[in-house]
Amino acid sequence: MLVENLVIIGSGPAGYTAAIYAARAQLKPVVFEGFEAGGIPGGQLMITTDVENFPGFPEGITGPSLMRQMRQQALRWGAQLITDDVVRVDFKQRPFAIASAEQEIQTHAVIICTGATAKRLHLPGEETFWNNGISACAICDGANPLFHDAEVAVVGGGDSAAEEALYLTKYARKVHLLVRRDRLRASKTMQDRLFNHDRIQIHWNCLPLSVHGDEVLRWILIQDAIAGAVSELPVNGLFYAIGHTPNTQLFQDQLNLDRSGYIQTEAKSTATNIPGVWAAGDVQDSHYRQAITAAGTGCMAALEAERWLAEQQPLAIPNAA
Ligand SMILES: Cc1cc2nc3c(=O)[nH]c(=O)nc-3n(C[C@H](O)[C@H](O)[C@H](O)COP(=O)(O)OP(=O)(O)OC[C@H]3O[C@@H](n4cnc5c(N)ncnc54)[C@H](O)[C@@H]3O)c2cc1C
Repeated sequence: MLVENLVIIGSGPAGYTAAIYAARAQLKPVVFEGFEAGGIPGGQLMITTDVENFPGFPEGITGPSLMRQMRQQALRWGAQLITDDVVRVDFKQRPFAIASAEQEIQTHAVIICTGATAKRLHLPGEETFWNNGISACAICDGANPLFHDAEVAVVGGGDSAAEEALYLTKYARKVHLLVRRDRLRASKTMQDRLFNHDRIQIHWNCLPLSVHGDEVLRWILIQDAIAGAVSELPVNGLFYAIGHTPNTQLFQDQLNLDRSGYIQTEAKSTATNIPGVWAAGDVQDSHYRQAITAAGTGCMAALEAERWLAEQQPLAIPNAA
């Protein structure tokens, strides 16, 4: 059976960047782009509209266009793309085995770029206003003119929610932080910054029930979890900051994961605890979660894989196919 040099799992910014670098290094990478597990081919940017912070596009670019261009660049350099989900991996044997429902591939090295999925509340009306008032990323979408000088709400009580609320004060007139319980999980420093901000209002024991508007979001229905009272909160923006689920179910018994399920990588590296397996992008990053950082770590992983494969000669032969 032919043994591939490198299999890349996932086709977001991390996966395609790793594919471009590995293909240019003549490793002939095989990329499982995914199909429906953990998102869609192209990754999270396929479900957004404008991306305004990816360098090189001064006028912005839509998420799907950006991902199409990355895909074309990977193809141009000779990456082999398979639009299917990986359903099983075996890192206990060498070469490693990677299987979709249709086929099994053996490979000397693997880069995992399966991303993470932002948690949503799936409130009644949410689909109507997703990307049109509702978002899971304030840093990505906060500068949208929809939110300039508007009132917006953030759902969550941890550090991410605190960061998102503080970030949104750069644009919004007022930020409502909707906290499910009577206390925050955020660090003391972040709590102090929230409490001392005159344009952030915290709503304790607050449950969002549904979202409403016309062509854009206008208000949300909230409930006081203790008193039961239901009221309308007029906002033009609703930001979820209730966490992400890393797409690592496949790797649970194979790799070291942290308590939240993210793949653990070595400092200043994308190496996992298994030599020959690297992880890049949101699947190993619970902190930055940006397209550019995903692409950056995808590049790191490909460079690390290339060097590692070169050291394994004659096991792995660049250009072998
Ligand atoms: C609505 C929204 C808007 C955003 N806007 C911005 C923005 O403006 N700017 C910005 O920098 N960032 C933005 N982000 C964040 C950005 O999208 C992510 O940080 C980035 O996409 C992470 O890239 P990734 O390659 O790690 O993973 P992802 O983009 O999540 O891609 C993961 C890939 O893995 C594949 N996959 C998963 N499981 C499997 C499997 N079992 N087999 C095969 N493939 C699999 C999926 O199909 C997908 O292709 C936004 C995120 C969201 C949700």
